[in-house]
Amino acid sequence: MTLLKVEGLRSGYGEVQVLQGLDLTVDAGEIVVVLGANGAGKTTTLRALSGMIPAKGSVQFDGAEVIGRKPEDLVRRGIAHVPQGRGTFPELTVDENLQVGGFTQSAADTAADAERWYEVFPRLAERRDQLAGSMSGGEQQMLAIARALMSRPRLLLLDEPSLGLAPLITRDVFERITEVNQELGTTVLVVEQNANLALKIADRGYVLATGSIVASGTAEELSSDDSVRRAYLGV
Ligand code: ATP
Repeated sequence: MTLLKVEGLRSGYGEVQVLQGLDLTVDAGEIVVVLGANGAGKTTTLRALSGMIPAKGSVQFDGAEVIGRKPEDLVRRGIAHVPQGRGTFPELTVDENLQVGGFTQSAADTAADAERWYEVFPRLAERRDQLAGSMSGGEQQMLAIARALMSRPRLLLLDEPSLGLAPLITRDVFERITEVNQELGTTVLVVEQNANLALKIADRGYVLATGSIVASGTAEELSSDDSVRRAYLGV
């Protein structure tokens, strides 16, 4: 079943059009990665899909047209966005960040969900009273993901979860993402520069260059396509 269907997505900043008409789909239960070099438009794609910047074209989520909807409305419909640079409140504790993330749920559900995410992310459980801003980069990334999951999303949009993290920590973050996908069935659309790692956890991928999709395929196809790797992925 197609959960997200994007057609002719155009978006940008003021006069500058960055996305030149993107088409992509994400099926329920999949992990799909959007790869591309610096400035390709990966972050802009997620901003457009999460309602943070104006966009044109069509974005169908679970069969309903959602283009132009406000971010809060999209969260209520089941789309959660972990922006680049984490998306946590540094001056709030770990626990307070999770409570804020559960704003669409009842207090009882929020409390139960927080305990569940503490099990998946034990480092957060050890630090529940620590200020988010004083945590390490990897811990903050885990917190940002857990906070987004508090809204019980059907689709999780992740913006470069590996950014600024050491390789071992990145691997750990990606393992957690796989765990959430497999155990809860949460669908994931992740944008990444780290093609090798992202293709290991993804089912399918798209390659973005200057605001257009230039290649797509299963993770296996993209990984073994030398021309794609050389031209667009720098690997
Ligand atoms: P990176 O991997 O470096 O984060 P990206 O693929 O996510 O790159 P975007 O951040 O989507 O790329 O940027 C795409 C283009 O849009 C770039 O040319 C960038 O300079 C431009 N851009 C991004 N944010 C803004 C903004 N707030 N105002 C104007 N232009 C912007």
